[in-house]
Amino acid sequence: MSIILVVRAAMSFIIESIPAFKDNYSFIIGDKDLGLAVAVDPSDGEAILNVLNKQDLFLALILNTHHHANHVTGNEKLYQEFGAPIIAPAKEQNRIPNVARGVGDGDIVSFSTLRATVIETSGHTMGHVSYYFPQIDALFSGDALFSLGCGKPSGGDPVRAWESIKKLRELPNETLVYFGHECSEDNAKLALMLDKDNPDLQRIAEKISIARAKGQPTVPTTIGEQKLANPFMRVDDKAFRENLQKLSFAPADAEPAAVFGKLCLARAKLTYPDPV
Ligand code: ZN
Repeated sequence: MSIILVVRAAMSFIIESIPAFKDNYSFIIGDKDLGLAVAVDPSDGEAILNVLNKQDLFLALILNTHHHANHVTGNEKLYQEFGAPIIAPAKEQNRIPNVARGVGDGDIVSFSTLRATVIETSGHTMGHVSYYFPQIDALFSGDALFSLGCGKPSGGDPVRAWESIKKLRELPNETLVYFGHECSEDNAKLALMLDKDNPDLQRIAEKISIARAKGQPTVPTTIGEQKLANPFMRVDDKAFRENLQKLSFAPADAEPAAVFGKLCLARAKLTYPDPV
């Protein structure tokens, strides 16, 4: 688990990453002054309950990025324990029990003094959303964006996923990205195959290797890092595209969305697991 203390002006919040199952991450944003918390994508309800108890926080809200079971399984336990309302993508709320409010692109979600903007980031699933909290520079991207990768289209499609990635690329470079799966080291393998001379990628991949060797999480990353090194964010980058052409991976005139689709296929074909 990793805890990040975010202090902005008079605000004091903690963000805690909570690992679950094989490689999932759930998150808690806690307002220590009010003693309230929001849980993002609760995987293991019991593990989240333990963290809330340890931090002496009462759960006020649950946010889901998409309907996949490994992101919503903990909802029920926490809903029963705290009666916390569940906010989830409107397009998927019929697949998630007890949703109080369905949200879509541009909607605002309030917690304590924070206001999050909902960004539709479909592609991994057809209704996937991300939650952006500008006051604490935090994006909860679910499976729309990982470190050096992104969630495979699983009920969604790659063209939409590329459109979503472009939206996230517009966020400030310093935005901390809290993503849904610890798959950074595997993602780095594909990235280095395709872009091995990129010094930023080399640096970030090295940082990931060191963290994983120590058993530490690689979450959060930043939008700035991903813009420099994530191949899925760089399918319209001139230098990256020249590399892909040299490798005969994609011709120079291929549409970025088509190259993005090829990257998704390449990621799925590699022998290591591709998170759902
Ligand atoms: Zn998923």
